[in-house]
Amino acid sequence: MNIDQTFDLIVIGSGPGGQKAATEATKRGLKVAIVERERAVGGTCVHLGTIPSKTLREAALTIATLRRNADFFDFKLKEDMEVSTLMRRLDTVLQSYTGFISEYLGINSGKLFQGRACFVDPHTVLVTTVKGKKITLRARNTVIATGSRPRTPQQIPVDHEHILDSDSILSMIYLPRSLTVIGAGVIASEYASIFSLLGVQVTMIDRTPRPLMFMEPELTSKFLDHFTRNGGTYIGNARVDEVEWNGFQTVTRLDNGKEIASDKLLVAQGRLANTETLNLEALGMKTGRNGTIEVDETYQTSVPGIYAVGDVIGPPSLASVSMEQGRRAACAIAGENISHQINIVPIGIYAVPELSSVGLSEEEAREQYGDDIIIGRADFDEVARGQIAGIQDGMLKIISDPEGKKILGVHIVSEGATDLIHVGEMAIINGNEVDTYLENIMNFPTLGEAYRIAALSIVNKRAQRAKKRASSPIHKLIPETELD
Ligand SMILES: Cc1cc2nc3c(=O)[nH]c(=O)nc-3n(C[C@H](O)[C@H](O)[C@H](O)COP(=O)(O)OP(=O)(O)OC[C@H]3O[C@@H](n4cnc5c(N)ncnc54)[C@H](O)[C@@H]3O)c2cc1C
Repeated sequence: MNIDQTFDLIVIGSGPGGQKAATEATKRGLKVAIVERERAVGGTCVHLGTIPSKTLREAALTIATLRRNADFFDFKLKEDMEVSTLMRRLDTVLQSYTGFISEYLGINSGKLFQGRACFVDPHTVLVTTVKGKKITLRARNTVIATGSRPRTPQQIPVDHEHILDSDSILSMIYLPRSLTVIGAGVIASEYASIFSLLGVQVTMIDRTPRPLMFMEPELTSKFLDHFTRNGGTYIGNARVDEVEWNGFQTVTRLDNGKEIASDKLLVAQGRLANTETLNLEALGMKTGRNGTIEVDETYQTSVPGIYAVGDVIGPPSLASVSMEQGRRAACAIAGENISHQINIVPIGIYAVPELSSVGLSEEEAREQYGDDIIIGRADFDEVARGQIAGIQDGMLKIISDPEGKKILGVHIVSEGATDLIHVGEMAIINGNEVDTYLENIMNFPTLGEAYRIAALSIVNKRAQRAKKRASSPIHKLIPETELD
């Protein structure tokens, strides 16, 4: 086979994982080719996921604020609001972002090839352009960063017009009056709460008793309170038997006999890794559940020299995590030692309100440290900034060890939670104790004050516990030091 060009590294996919792998490898002096099948670089994150959904969310929050002050501003939302109007800023955001990435990739990441990549053998990748031109690239190493796409269950006939998935939801022209959301994970919860804030009547349906089952129940119940107060409905413990478009509305039939009709339907029930067209068979590589690729701690697959990062390797399927995996894969390829394993990963969910967590959940903490772990909470209506901003349903929870010192986990539900979480994340990573929040200064008034309030509650509980212990009969007989 004729080899057109030779590189040190080929990166397939220009989403957050691929971009970071390419730029980091180039910085380390490697000659890199990056292959992207779409016309624009940036991946799901830029074009179909993170950035568009967060742009819509900003519009929804602005509209909610205007509505709250409708009389004051003499404001009324148009009956036939166009989604594109709500997303007006998206084009500007995307243009500047993709422009920046293209330029950055061009300067810092070697050569960009536009076309679909597939393997010929472990060191040869064939790129087919839209016009059918074939280019053969060769490299010692390859990073697969091809991302994922929505999974469509068999009984749901997605037509991208009435029955949509997370790729097509924002192509709706008008804001529907009603929307059924099938699923209760991150994407489902984000869109369900955003659309309900926009005044759409949203019904969310899932098998699980509550949405976002992997988050703390206290947080999700506050999320649900907010969602239902906005007119949303959650139907849990239900299975979808059938979905149809009857020419007038979408109809969802559940296993409990219920039928839900709505203008539009969004199905968000997980994602499939983009691996099926890579010809992984030529490498003898097998894929796992949902088409994902298995990797070791350096992100190397079962085939030496082939690495995989991002959504293609499975959960947590976040842009933030994909970037760090890309960086780590590049370091490994360049022969650098990767400092430590990442086991502290913050989770950010941009629902309304936001939910975010880092470290252990209450259940995990009890399993590892016993039932006498100490938990401190702060409600945002106790926090001056929360009152000023009119934040309802906000809560921050710190989980500490039975000594009330070590921070095991932080969980937040509130506007701003995804930013606030990093204060807890850094404390956990650096081994700061609960008292750090009391012995140092934080700005006032801020939502960050919630950390001080929750920490104070832990310190008070710790003191009460010590007092109780000191007054127990056994402590009167045996010195404290011998019991500890
Ligand atoms: C609605 C939604 C909201 C989200 N919100 C957030 C959020 O708030 N925060 C967050 O951290 N994450 C969020 N995510 C997740 C985030 O978008 C993904 O985790 C991230 O984009 C994964 O990056 P990646 O590099 O693995 O893949 P992708 O971004 O999917 O990029 C893969 C690229 O590979 C290309 N490709 C695929 N196959 C080939 C091939 N054979 N040849 C050449 N190119 C190919 C694709 O065209 C694509 O450009 C969201 C996702 C969705 C859907």
